[in-house]
Amino acid sequence: MKIVLSETLSYCVGVRRTLERTRRLLADRRGRTCFMLGEIVHNERVIEDLKARGLRIVRDLDEVPPDGVVILQSHGSTRRRYEELAARGLEFVDATCPMVRIIHDRIREVEAEGRLPVVIGQAGHEEVRGIVGQVARAVVVKSPEDVTPGLFAGVSRAGVVAQSTFVEEDARLIVERLRALVPDVVYHDTICRPTKTRQRDVARQTRRADCVIIIGSRRSANTMHLFDIARAINPATHLIDRPEMVDGIKIPEEATVFVASGASTPMDLVTEVVRRLETRGGGRPAPQDGPR
Ligand code: SF4
Repeated sequence: MKIVLSETLSYCVGVRRTLERTRRLLADRRGRTCFMLGEIVHNERVIEDLKARGLRIVRDLDEVPPDGVVILQSHGSTRRRYEELAARGLEFVDATCPMVRIIHDRIREVEAEGRLPVVIGQAGHEEVRGIVGQVARAVVVKSPEDVTPGLFAGVSRAGVVAQSTFVEEDARLIVERLRALVPDVVYHDTICRPTKTRQRDVARQTRRADCVIIIGSRRSANTMHLFDIARAINPATHLIDRPEMVDGIKIPEEATVFVASGASTPMDLVTEVVRRLETRGGGRPAPQDGPR
């Protein structure tokens, strides 16, 4: 067995930055309690570690006392959330990823130009809620099938942004369909660079592998996109979120196994999976072959 690792493993720059800021804040909170709305990463081990350091994860600002400190995570927040924080006089640390801020700027520009704001992404995902929450009204679509004549009847100008972790090719198909219905469409490609790098690497290396292992949670949008990209190329693609799950995957002795992870998967989880593969005869991971 030959093990090949993705060139980008574990956290993306945005998640890493939020985690670092959270840990710093927890180390220096001077007796105050820190709160986060929702989980920063979909990984029990990381969440338990942050909780042990004093972080409290809540669903709503109603659960935060007046002297609490709120951490706004990398996904970004709605305008309403900032207004609520101000109205309650709550202190907060804004760890929104700079690349998500760009998406917020773009959708506000689209609205200011008098175009219908369209968001390509998963409705209900925290990042998409934050993007939609920048403008008075926006339409969310996640596939070309969502772009129906009825939904865009009477629309002559639209401006499109994409969730940072969306799949490039899927976004392109959605924009193409929209252009067939709406005469004037501007597309701001806001899929972030770290996402593109990771998705391209997964597509390229999956073509060279006999078996693919994607490490991450089903609740993580970017992990699921990587899984879908790889599985469309190679059906022998497996999604695991616990190291022991790798033991149940049948891998032929001569197989090349490509290992990749989502942008919110901790490195120790990746390391443990690779170690288990090594003990099954994989040896040390080999460098990637062929052109990048
Ligand atoms: S996926 Fe991209 S935009 Fe989202 S947090 Fe990571 S680096 Fe930032």
